[in-house]
Amino acid sequence: MSETTETTYKPTSPNSKLDFASVWEYDPAPESTDHVEVKEKYELFIDGKFVKPSKGRYFSTTNPATGKKLTEFAEATQKDIDKAVKSARKAFEGEWSELAPKTRGKYLFRIARMLQERAREFAVLESMDGGKPIRESRDVDIPLVAAHFFYYAGWADKLEYAFPGKTPEPIGVCGQIIPWNFPLLMLAWKIAPALACGNTVVLKPAETTSLTAMKFAELVKDAGVPDGVINIVTGAGQTGAEIVNHKDIDKIAFTGSTRVGKIIQQSLAGTDKRYSLELGGKGAMIIFEDAPIDQAVEGIINAIFFNQGHVCCAGSRLIVQESVADKVVQKLKDRMQTLVVGDPLDKNTDVGAINSENQFNTVNKYLEIGINEGADIYQCDCELPADGYFIRPTLLTNVSQSNRVVQEEIFGPVLTIQTFRTADEAITKANNTPYGLANGVWTDKGSKIFKIGSKLRSGVVWANTYNKFDPTSPFGGYKESGVGREGGLQGLSAYVNLK
Ligand code: ADP
Repeated sequence: MSETTETTYKPTSPNSKLDFASVWEYDPAPESTDHVEVKEKYELFIDGKFVKPSKGRYFSTTNPATGKKLTEFAEATQKDIDKAVKSARKAFEGEWSELAPKTRGKYLFRIARMLQERAREFAVLESMDGGKPIRESRDVDIPLVAAHFFYYAGWADKLEYAFPGKTPEPIGVCGQIIPWNFPLLMLAWKIAPALACGNTVVLKPAETTSLTAMKFAELVKDAGVPDGVINIVTGAGQTGAEIVNHKDIDKIAFTGSTRVGKIIQQSLAGTDKRYSLELGGKGAMIIFEDAPIDQAVEGIINAIFFNQGHVCCAGSRLIVQESVADKVVQKLKDRMQTLVVGDPLDKNTDVGAINSENQFNTVNKYLEIGINEGADIYQCDCELPADGYFIRPTLLTNVSQSNRVVQEEIFGPVLTIQTFRTADEAITKANNTPYGLANGVWTDKGSKIFKIGSKLRSGVVWANTYNKFDPTSPFGGYKESGVGREGGLQGLSAYVNLK
């Protein structure tokens, strides 16, 4: 790690009453990597073939848990994007649109089944490339990826029932740009509904997590999907911009930061391209005094620490009723001491590696900002691996609503804690950020859930749980968290023109 990653803050000691180290000690249980193949380099997937990039340039990706190079990806430039769009256009106007909708569905079902068959391989690669614990990639990401393909496969020949009284038509060629936090899942959210509706796609994964997308390209070939229906191009922001600005793309679907989302929206202003944007978040978890506290503490741990906080809808703010605040915070601290931080491939690991050096620096910068703003910091005592990018799960208390750590997306295992006395105060605090992607409410009373939920300005409100996903339910944001919805029926309407 470079010198610039050093921070000036000093983590406090947990002062815990329990000797957690002796209670929670596990022998290493690493997942085997024998069954996965990582090539030395990957080409672009255009028109059903793996082709070299026109400028012959490649960039490398590292395993964030070791800091070591994993492989290289081709850098797609304007000429390559043009080639990919042309191949998607040809497929859209040719073979793909001539297929019966039922046959389109069959391809999606086949992809879903093949993903299940190769689930272990995809899960291991996802953890190696992105740093997320194997438990997450194995039990959450990959099963949800397959579920999305199954779900949208079922819609392919039933679109007229999805939009009664209307005639749904595909939009055309879709440019899709995805981030690094759920690499294969975001690919599924984009590709499955697009294909179900008869579109063709040019997709770009994030530059730090392109491995499972390229593996998916191999699967697409094995599944016999007609050439040009799915094109996968790798590269960084410039490659993404080439997709956004290509004249023959009909729709842009983007998931990523609000900063880049705004750039994309500006580029698309005045064009007739349709677009959907899923951007940042600053989710609040409101805990009432009548909530099942132990369940809530477990939910909080899951909402912010299990995926290193690398979730746009992460519950990164805790807003807890004053009467139970001390109890909740103490239980949270005790539970944090039992978290295993380390090797993403170890099945006991709860918190894996921060996705990249860049993000590692960003999270550390926010910890410094928090301290400078007057926050008290609490971190678990856990040992961190010597190499790679790891950050201890962190609480920031003594923060106020206007603090940057409360307002801005940190995208790391960092939870700010505020208290409230009345429900109105909790709602005001939860809604007072530029974002509106997701929030959670913990209470024993169903009526309170509905009352509070209806006043929270976010696309998702979870009740007595957090970070639960399902292909049938729509996902998307208010305010600076984005435009449009993915998932469910709403996710289909993002890929059709209705007549
Ligand atoms: P994050 O902070 O989650 O990485 P970014 O918005 O930086 O989010 O990146 C999300 C995706 O957008 C990545 O695939 C990235 O390469 C791409 N990207 C970055 N800059 C641009 C841009 N100017 N135009 C289009 N895509 C971009």
